[in-house]
Amino acid sequence: MSIITNNVYAIIDRIEKARKGGVEIIAATKTRSIAEILDIIQNTPVSAAGENRVQEFISKYDERAQWDFIGQLQTNKVKYIIDKVRLIHSVDRLSLLETIDKEAAKSNKVQDILLETNTGREASKGGLYLEDVAAFAEKAVAFPNVRLLGLMAVAPINCQENQAQRYFDRAYAEYAALKARYPQVKYLSMGMSNDYLRAVESGANLVRLGRAIFGERK
Ligand SMILES: *Cc1c(COP(=O)(O)O)cnc(C)c1O
Repeated sequence: MSIITNNVYAIIDRIEKARKGGVEIIAATKTRSIAEILDIIQNTPVSAAGENRVQEFISKYDERAQWDFIGQLQTNKVKYIIDKVRLIHSVDRLSLLETIDKEAAKSNKVQDILLETNTGREASKGGLYLEDVAAFAEKAVAFPNVRLLGLMAVAPINCQENQAQRYFDRAYAEYAALKARYPQVKYLSMGMSNDYLRAVESGANLVRLGRAIFGERK
């Protein structure tokens, strides 16, 4: 086993101990090579590669893996990824929703999406404030070529580790409310290398891990 596949099994072990239900691992693959990505996709239960830049997504795309989009997405770039992406984690505004619906219709697909939340109300970040999620979700479910599957959340930058739990708990509460309203909702994408165990403790069931799997970026 390679070091990075070992990392995945160590992560699964830690998650097993913290979790309340099943947890899916997405590999955050920015800067990583396609060989590294295929190694974990083919040899571990990691379910998808998550890219956060469109350019990098397209240049790495390989049909042997499933691909999620996890970064900020410009409306004019949706058309480049729509027929390749499994789940878009980062929907945070109406214009993006409209574009995804339109491009998905052209590709004859229903695109699975998550709404990105800005739990810490940080001006530097995209994402919906938690109090706006319910109204936005109501709009999202009306689009025929989009399927709303849940929420994505990130703890605020520079947030102390013991503070992150507070934000994660709030995101979970919003997710639970959404799930009660829309039965298809099933994902809370929350937790990165430095905070995924806390996120899982708060009820995350999809974690996005880069450094924990691949090591520090060079
Ligand atoms: C890079 C990235 C991650 C993973 O970050 P690590 O700290 O390397 O685990 C998760 N989510 C998004 C949106 C990212 O861009």
